[in-house]
Amino acid sequence: MKKTNLKSLSRQELDQLIADIDEKSFRAGQIWSWIYQKNVTSFNRMSNISQSLRTKLDRMAFISSLKLIHKTVSLRSNTEKFLWELEDGFRIESVYIPEGKRRTLCISSQVGCGLQCRFCATGSMGFRRNLETEEITDQVLSTYREMGEKPTNIVVMGMGEPFLNFDNVLKALVIINHSDGLAIGHRKITISTAGIIPQLIRYMKESHPFRLAVSLNATTDAQRTRLMPINKKYPLHQLLQTARTYTQKTKKRITFEYVLFKGINDTQADANRLLKLLKGMPCKVNLIAYNPTANPFKTPDEDTIHHFAETIRPLCAPVTMRLSKGDDIQAACGQLAIANRRKKP
Ligand code: SAH
Repeated sequence: MKKTNLKSLSRQELDQLIADIDEKSFRAGQIWSWIYQKNVTSFNRMSNISQSLRTKLDRMAFISSLKLIHKTVSLRSNTEKFLWELEDGFRIESVYIPEGKRRTLCISSQVGCGLQCRFCATGSMGFRRNLETEEITDQVLSTYREMGEKPTNIVVMGMGEPFLNFDNVLKALVIINHSDGLAIGHRKITISTAGIIPQLIRYMKESHPFRLAVSLNATTDAQRTRLMPINKKYPLHQLLQTARTYTQKTKKRITFEYVLFKGINDTQADANRLLKLLKGMPCKVNLIAYNPTANPFKTPDEDTIHHFAETIRPLCAPVTMRLSKGDDIQAACGQLAIANRRKKP
C-alpha cells in the first residue's frame, strides 16, 4: 500500500482519513496542530496520541519535509535565500525578508517557469513541473523551522506562475491560512500573476480571499509583448478590463507591479499612459526597480523612478517603491534561477 503524505491533505481530507480508519474525529485536529503549529514530521513526537494510533499512522502515512541544501544570507539587508531539494532531485528557492516587525516569505509555485518574461532569470530556466501542495506549504514550515520564527506575510512571487498551478497553490494557501494551523491571515497572503485571464476569472468566481497582485510592467501591447510574451495570448486591455471587473465584484483592491526598465517603460509618456489606464480603479501600484539578471536591460536611476512615482501620484492609489532586498545574493525579484540538473535517482 502506498503511504499517504499527510501534508498533501486539506483539513477536510484529514478528517475523512481519520474517519476512514475509525478513529475519533478530534484526532484529526490534534494531528493538524502537530504538523502546522508544532511543525513535527514524526508520529513519535505526537505525545498526546496513543502509541497504538501512532503505530497505525506510521504504517499508512508519512509527513514530508524539504531538504535544505543551503542558505545564503545577504549582508546588506538580512534577506536570506533558501535552496531546497525536492523528492525527485529538483531544486527550488524561497526568500525570507525581515523588515521591522514584518517577516515576509516569498515562495515558489513551480520548478522553473514557462512564461519566458525577457527580464526574469526564472524564465530562462524553462518549465520543469508544478509544485505539489505540500512542496508549497513546506517552504513556509521549513523556513519557520530554520529561522525559529513564523513568517508573518507570504507572497507567492518566487519561481513560477501560480495561476498555472492553480489547484495546488490555492489548496496550499488555504492550509497556510487555516486558523488551527499556521494561521497566517488572508490579508497577509499575496498571490502574484503575470495575468492569466481565465484563472483570474476563476479566482474571482471562487471568491478566494487572498490579496491579488498583477505584474503589469508596460502600458502598451507592443511594449508588454516584448517584455512578457504571455501578453500575446492575454493582451493588456483585456487584462485590465478583467482586473476592473475583479475590483468591482469583490470590492477589493488589486496591486499592480510595474518593473521599471531604463529607457523602455520609464518615460513621462509611460507614466501618463499608466495614469490613464488605471484611472478610477481601486488599486495599489508597486514600482520595482529592475534587478539585473543575465539580459540586456538596465535599471533606471533613482531620479527617474521618483519622477515616475510623482507623475502617477494623482491616481490616489497608494504608490510604493520596492527597494530591492537581497540583490547581492541574487534573491531579489526575478533573480531566482537554478541550474537544476536533476539528480539521478
Ligand atoms: N509569475 C508571477 C510571480 C513571479 S514574478 C508574476 O509574474 O507575477 C514576481 C514579480 O517579480 C513580478 O512582478 C515580476 O514582474 C517581477 N520581476 C521579475 N523579474 C524581475 C527583475 N529582474 N527585476 C525586478 N522585478 C522582476
